Amino acid sequence: MSFETVIGLEVHVELKTRSKIFCSCSNEFGAEPNTNVCPICSGFPGMLPVLNQQVVEYAIKAGLALNCEIADYCKFDRKNYFYPDLPKAYQISQYDLPVCKKGYLDIEFGGTKKRIGITRAHLEEDAGKLVHQGSISSTPFSLVDLNRSGVPLLEIVSEPDLRSSQEARAYMEKIRSVLLFAGVSDCKMEEGSLRCDANVSVRPSGQATLGTRTEIKNLNSFKAMEKAIDFEVQRQIEAIEDGEEIIQETRTWEEDKQITRSMRSKEEAHDYRYFPEPDLPPLRISRKWVNDIIQSMPEMPEQARERIMDEHGLSAYDASLLTLTPDFLGFFDECTRYYHDGKIISNWMMGEMSKLLNQKNLDITQCKINPVHLVDMLKLMDEGRISGKMAKEVFEAMFETGSPPEAIIKEKGMEQISDEDTLEKIILEVIAKNPRVVEDYRNGKKKATGFLVGQVMQATRGQANPALVNQILARKLNS
Ligand SMILES: [Zn+2]
Repeated sequence: MSFETVIGLEVHVELKTRSKIFCSCSNEFGAEPNTNVCPICSGFPGMLPVLNQQVVEYAIKAGLALNCEIADYCKFDRKNYFYPDLPKAYQISQYDLPVCKKGYLDIEFGGTKKRIGITRAHLEEDAGKLVHQGSISSTPFSLVDLNRSGVPLLEIVSEPDLRSSQEARAYMEKIRSVLLFAGVSDCKMEEGSLRCDANVSVRPSGQATLGTRTEIKNLNSFKAMEKAIDFEVQRQIEAIEDGEEIIQETRTWEEDKQITRSMRSKEEAHDYRYFPEPDLPPLRISRKWVNDIIQSMPEMPEQARERIMDEHGLSAYDASLLTLTPDFLGFFDECTRYYHDGKIISNWMMGEMSKLLNQKNLDITQCKINPVHLVDMLKLMDEGRISGKMAKEVFEAMFETGSPPEAIIKEKGMEQISDEDTLEKIILEVIAKNPRVVEDYRNGKKKATGFLVGQVMQATRGQANPALVNQILARKLNS
């Protein structure tokens, strides 16, 4: 029997506002534990939350980037549950009236386009973080850090439209890309500002009703998400084939064992006893505000892709890789301000630069190469002062040190040869070796010099001074 996989994702994104969602505590990452806390976000009785306007603006921006409808009326609700990282014993979230709904994202996977529905995106506050000594089951005690308590989150819930772990990854990458371009989150999975829960089920191919799903919690890297989904799909298929029933439950991904493990039976919405948050008035969002935000929306990845394909004749594939993050695109755009050939810039960025970034596990914001230096290097190649092979060496040195190419050439002794006698000797050898080309030249084919210059460059490993080579060559050919 063959099975079809059905996946829906709940993606949590931290919005990068300066302060938290309901108080003025800082929203910075990585501060000393419990330094960004106040009576509101540590849940003192009687403290009143005040909604941060910037959070709503970012939610609207994100909603627009996700092609959602923006509600003109929405409200906040209390989601009640007890866990030591949640000091109020309820989380302020949005239940039946979210700020954004009915959106979609188009993903491309294996050359085909697919539209993934977005059911809703709602605002909520993050909980604190429990810190264990070792694992949760063996720790002698646990500590709680409330710095994250009250950090603004947008939870983006997809339709069950995804059919494989690879599609799920493509969708997550697309969310990351559009939210980075919208400028509402830094989407760092390693810092937890982008994470997801996956709802996974399988059903016999052709069956219309959905199978029983399990929810895998807190997947915090693309790799973990793919592996957890693949494991869970296989586990469910094997269970069904053994005649077992799938239990609707919440599972966790155990990175060290590479398995999903049952955490608890899945709770239903009514278990949380949602009710309207009495401390916050309903939120009305004026159309004027939404329209102002639409006017101020930055370029989105799909628009950027069209633009650079148009302006620089890039392939769709190259253009989509260059528009994965605004920083990558920004580097490309900066280079094209000073250099005419976008295709060549793209080749260096996708080739050498991506290779080195991957090797060192860096992203482009950590890259030492200055766009202007890359352009200078390309110009040195155009002038024939360095060969393609030398350029690779120069590029690697630029990547290591951030120095300008001229300095590297000097330091590595890649200086051009400008000694007339040396060059004349080499040019005479080249002329002697290529009588036919010389004859072509003398018969009026002036372009033949290009070939001869190339030969001289090759003989000098690209180090001959091209202006001087041209000069001497013209003199010899015309004599
Ligand atoms: Zn606070």
